[in-house]
Amino acid sequence: MNTIKIKFIAALTLVSLLVGAIVLILTPYMVKHEIVENALEHRSNTFEKSIKHFIEEHGSWGSAGDAVAFANSADFRLVEEVSDINQIPIKVTVFDQNGHVLHSGSGFTIGSRVDIGSMEDPEEIYVRDEVVAYMAATGDVQLSPWEKAYLHTLEETLFFSVLMAIITILPFGIWHGSRLVYSLKHLTRAVNSMAEGKLQQQVPINSGDEVGVLAQAFNSMNQQLVSAYKELETSRNLIADQAEKLKELSIRDELTGLYNRRFFNEEGATLMASSVRYNQPLSIVLGDVDHFKKINDNYSHATGDAVLKQVSKILQQGVRASDLVARFGGEEMVLALPNTSLPEATEMIDRIRAAIADYPWSDVAEGLSVTMSFGVSADESVQSLERRLDLADTELYRAKREGRNRVCACEPA
Ligand code: GH3
Ligand code: MG
Ligand code: MG
Repeated sequence: MNTIKIKFIAALTLVSLLVGAIVLILTPYMVKHEIVENALEHRSNTFEKSIKHFIEEHGSWGSAGDAVAFANSADFRLVEEVSDINQIPIKVTVFDQNGHVLHSGSGFTIGSRVDIGSMEDPEEIYVRDEVVAYMAATGDVQLSPWEKAYLHTLEETLFFSVLMAIITILPFGIWHGSRLVYSLKHLTRAVNSMAEGKLQQQVPINSGDEVGVLAQAFNSMNQQLVSAYKELETSRNLIADQAEKLKELSIRDELTGLYNRRFFNEEGATLMASSVRYNQPLSIVLGDVDHFKKINDNYSHATGDAVLKQVSKILQQGVRASDLVARFGGEEMVLALPNTSLPEATEMIDRIRAAIADYPWSDVAEGLSVTMSFGVSADESVQSLERRLDLADTELYRAKREGRNRVCACEPA
């Protein structure tokens, strides 16, 4: 659909034809007109000279008789002869200041009066600086065979010149139109691709004209847009990363890297709801490091922190990916074990307890030993997280009371 190209070529053809037609019609007409004007002027000059000669010879042109004498004079014959030679049937009327016709070549009676104002461009005839008469020349000039041949040749030459000009201009116009459309086609394609989401687009620059400037402007605009988009994308990713980090920070405990109590409460409630709904067991475990105060006191607070970190690691490694481990507060940890019955949970937690007790704590601080007590609850009749946590806490208290480094489970009612 090259409408611009078609329009451009059509306009060029139309203008070429129009100019050709004007040149072909106007030039021969103007040349012919010029020949006629020249012939008339030449004829008038000859006639004027004859009259001047006649008046100078006869002193004046006083009466109609003079006209007859003039008509019979050698001068007039000379004029007639000249007229014959040029084949110009020219008609000259001569009249005095009062409009009396002195000589008539166009049907006036000699001696009658003409309206000077109605005569076309009458010429004054001077004799010794005095206007002695006026003359007006009219005539239908017939071109001589030579002039006709000249005009014909001129017309032919013009026709071929115009034809050659059109033949030369048209391919140039088509080539130029194609170039113009080529650039515009690239631009349109690029804009459409951008609309489809392919943002990065560059078009070739083929010229320094307005279309070339447009293509250049498009390219630099596109580059700016692409780099702005990339910056935006980077910022967006950065913001997403930051948001992710912030979210992690808000749900994680800083020291141990375990989930925090707030997140446990939210997630634990969801696990509890789904456990009730699908009638699947959910074990809740509370763990507390034994005599942790002494570790802080006998070693250091930093050692205490290191113990908390290691205990958290052992806990995390001892459970499944679907289990939830969180720091409940201080040296107290909480676990939610979905799809885990009380015996399964007790067994799993006891393994963790043993792993803690067996850990080479002397690597952390010389002479250091760490144990942990746990309380487990999986009572299905208790369907709230808080209540089940209370039950686990009771079991934990029992474990402490019974000598620590053990797991106590709340037997189902
Ligand atoms: P029990 O066996 O009965 O649990 O005795 P315990 O000493 O562990 O219990 P207690 O609750 O008396 O002591 C807990 C101590 O844990 C008190 C507190 O200073 C300490 N603690 C709480 N949070 C942190 C912590 O983030 N880092 C360290 N190093 N100590 C902490
Ligand atoms: Mg405690
Ligand atoms: Mg403790």
